[in-house]
Amino acid sequence: MPLTPVRGEPDPEGGDCVACGRCCHHGPRTVHLLVGDEARMGKRLLDLYTELDPKPPTFRFLKNEGERCGGLDVSVPDRYPCAIYEVRPDDCRIVEPGSPACLEARRLGHLGTSVRFQREP
Ligand code: SF4
Ligand code: SF4
Repeated sequence: MPLTPVRGEPDPEGGDCVACGRCCHHGPRTVHLLVGDEARMGKRLLDLYTELDPKPPTFRFLKNEGERCGGLDVSVPDRYPCAIYEVRPDDCRIVEPGSPACLEARRLGHLGTSVRFQREP
């Protein structure tokens, strides 16, 4: 289930993120990894948190736990820290606090469709 919406503007420095976590709630095969992401995470974390799409072109994605990313640490109620924050994929870094995708995620209670996983040239 998506989470409840979050009202108000987020702290642009990310101070609200652990209490929010809305952008880390999304469908499976949403966050995909490129070569640099894989190198940063290393084999142990890749084995734990990612999987290969069996369909060509067999991209690697973060695993889901239901309707949220499997990298989200939900061990404390209403807290949503990322268990792999330092090595999270570039796709995750694109959703910055206060960005359109962030604001949409807060409004919907989960990541919406406005996010474009495109790197700056
Ligand atoms: S939706 Fe915005 S405020 Fe919430 S965790 Fe994601 S980046 Fe942070
Ligand atoms: S890896 Fe971390 S930042 Fe990225 S979607 Fe998963 S929990 Fe969120």
